[in-house]
Amino acid sequence: MEILSVKGVNKRFGGLKALDDVNLSIEQGHVHAIIGPNGAGKSTLLNCFVGRLIPDTGSVTFMARDLIGARPHEINQAGVSRVFQTPEIFGDLTLQENVMIPTLAKRDGAFTMNAWTRVDSQGEIRDKAMHMLEDVGLSDKKDMTADSLSRGDKRRLELTMCLVQDPKLLLLDEPTAGMSRADTNNTIDLLKRIGERGITMIVIEHDMHVVFSLASKISVLAQGTVIAEGQPEDIKGDPRVQEAYLGGTHV
Ligand code: ADP
Ligand code: MG
Repeated sequence: MEILSVKGVNKRFGGLKALDDVNLSIEQGHVHAIIGPNGAGKSTLLNCFVGRLIPDTGSVTFMARDLIGARPHEINQAGVSRVFQTPEIFGDLTLQENVMIPTLAKRDGAFTMNAWTRVDSQGEIRDKAMHMLEDVGLSDKKDMTADSLSRGDKRRLELTMCLVQDPKLLLLDEPTAGMSRADTNNTIDLLKRIGERGITMIVIEHDMHVVFSLASKISVLAQGTVIAEGQPEDIKGDPRVQEAYLGGTHV
């Protein structure tokens, strides 16, 4: 079953055509990778899914709901969570506090200091945050501030902040960028476990080891257009892909 349908999406930035008639069909319960050189339009496309950008033309439909024009928090409440290319965490707060905030954000659509006072009094949300931190292997660091974490752990924390919202669709923009090989492998294992729970994922990734470990379908984006699409084996052997991406200097 299709969970996200993208049809004829175009997006210009001035004279630059960042997305040029993009069509995608994302199947529920699958990991769908989007690969392509720098500047291909991958992050722009994700921004169109979460309401950060509005396409000039085209449609984005999530579980039969039209997302064009929907506000970011409405899309989040509908079940779409996103890990950004650069971790967006609250550096001065503890890990536990960081993981408590998104639960409230999903419930209330925004978070304020006022809301924070309320969340602090809610044992249930605290318990859920602890449970999630245990699940991803960060519970021993729960009282540390987020700023003090390693780069890999910051990404892991950000992922935890998405998971605590019980997303139906998780969008990951280069989840292993800048990670050590060990952290990358931990992330692959974690994402596999998340996938086994039935959470659909769209992963933008440069590391082909990550892509081929996780994805059941791959779309290749180049200059704003999907130039190839298929199962990992098909993509590996596609000469257009090798020319545009795998054999290029941007990998
Ligand atoms: P990718 O994530 O595949 O590396 P992006 O989606 O970030 O690519 O960018 C696609 C193209 O759009 C690039 O040429 C980039 O410079 C341009 N671009 C992205 N965001 C903006 C913006 N807000 N304003 C102008 N140009 C942008
Ligand atoms: Mg990008």
